[in-house]
Amino acid sequence: MNTSDRSTSSAWHERAGKVVPGGVSSPVRAFRAVGGDPVYFTSGEGAWVTDVDGNRYVDLVGSWGPMILGHAHPTVTSAVTDVVRHSSSFGAPTAAETLLAEEILRRVPVAERVRFVSSGTEATMTAIRLARAATGRDLIVKFVGCYHGHSDALLVQAGSGVMTLGLPNSPGVTAGAAGDTITVPYGDRAAVEAVFEQYPDRIAAVFTEAAPANMGVVPPPEGFNVFLREITAKFGSLFVFDEVMTGFRVGPGGWWMRYESGPAPDLFAYGKVIGGGYPLAAVAGSAAVMDQLAPLGPVYQAGTLSGNPVAATAGLTTLQQLDDAAYAHIDATAAEVLRIASDALTAAGVPHSPQRAGSLVSIYFTENPVRNMADASAQDEAAFGRFFHGMLDRGVSLPPSAYEAWFVSTAHDDEALSAIAAAAPDAAREAAAD
Ligand SMILES: *Cc1c(COP(=O)(O)O)cnc(C)c1O
Repeated sequence: MNTSDRSTSSAWHERAGKVVPGGVSSPVRAFRAVGGDPVYFTSGEGAWVTDVDGNRYVDLVGSWGPMILGHAHPTVTSAVTDVVRHSSSFGAPTAAETLLAEEILRRVPVAERVRFVSSGTEATMTAIRLARAATGRDLIVKFVGCYHGHSDALLVQAGSGVMTLGLPNSPGVTAGAAGDTITVPYGDRAAVEAVFEQYPDRIAAVFTEAAPANMGVVPPPEGFNVFLREITAKFGSLFVFDEVMTGFRVGPGGWWMRYESGPAPDLFAYGKVIGGGYPLAAVAGSAAVMDQLAPLGPVYQAGTLSGNPVAATAGLTTLQQLDDAAYAHIDATAAEVLRIASDALTAAGVPHSPQRAGSLVSIYFTENPVRNMADASAQDEAAFGRFFHGMLDRGVSLPPSAYEAWFVSTAHDDEALSAIAAAAPDAAREAAAD
């Protein structure tokens, strides 16, 4: 094995563990699921990242989605630098927010208003509050394995982060908060119908990921999203479409605009790509629902750094680079990464299921296609861990969990694909060896 020296990363991790719980600011970064110490990165350029020990890797994490143009994209870097020179925040409106909101609505014409926040968690939290206010109802329906951020009501059976740590639900979420959330297996129409039969006039909203990608990637069954739109409309509930992962990644207007049709969801949640690598997220939707927000309406929502000019400029500049050619490149590159890894695992005799939803891809280490969290949990996480370390030692950085999507960028070129192709066969053989 071609083990790279990562002793400086390990030293930093040990030092961090003394002052930060688990040494990390977000749990899945801690490598608990795959073993070993996390890698400390110092720089990135395009598809490549460099760690504190000087090792270079092809990056398939992309900060979990935002880095869709690759690292340190020159146009984004220069736009942000220009803004920062004139202050990073005023706590007052700036033109950058309006320009970004206009660009989002141009891409998603089925929405009419956008409110900016700083994280996907805040976006979905705001969507809950709006849905409850608009309907006068309490209950939220979500799918097992779908992640919508870490707010109390949505941190129930919530996929990757919690799964990776073997925590189906988090302590500290009150019985009241969890009790207002009903979970159903993903893709199960009969289960959704049963919930509406049981609580016909108590459900404020159904939340779904446009395509689940926080339990690994699960393509939505044909017609499932439209079914959710129809049944929520029928019972007077809101339909909240979480595009924090898919938004502006799987196509110019995200998943709904590219893959669905008919009456639109009431609310969309965005994050990741729309911040261009800076903390920015948004909730968007119809004027009727969105104008319930203060100061027009009674629903309170606020944020000191919400829509700050640095993040808004990074997001807008990022979106401006994402034309049809960029999406075609990302689609083709994601498919190619999946093919390379899957071919290597097949050659090594490792049972696996390559999965793809638009340009989101991941591999489950189980033979059968995965349709929901129960299927996903059947995978051989230890085999994934060996594959992960095999790739890392050969210069390819995958997400450190078997329940995460792999991310490519417009900067992943033939050189990056060749590096992945060079690493995969040996990593696959290590995954096979128990
Ligand atoms: C990442 C993610 C969130 C949470 O966003 P944060 O910015 O991490 O709070 C919510 N929903 C989905 C689908 C996500 O992938």
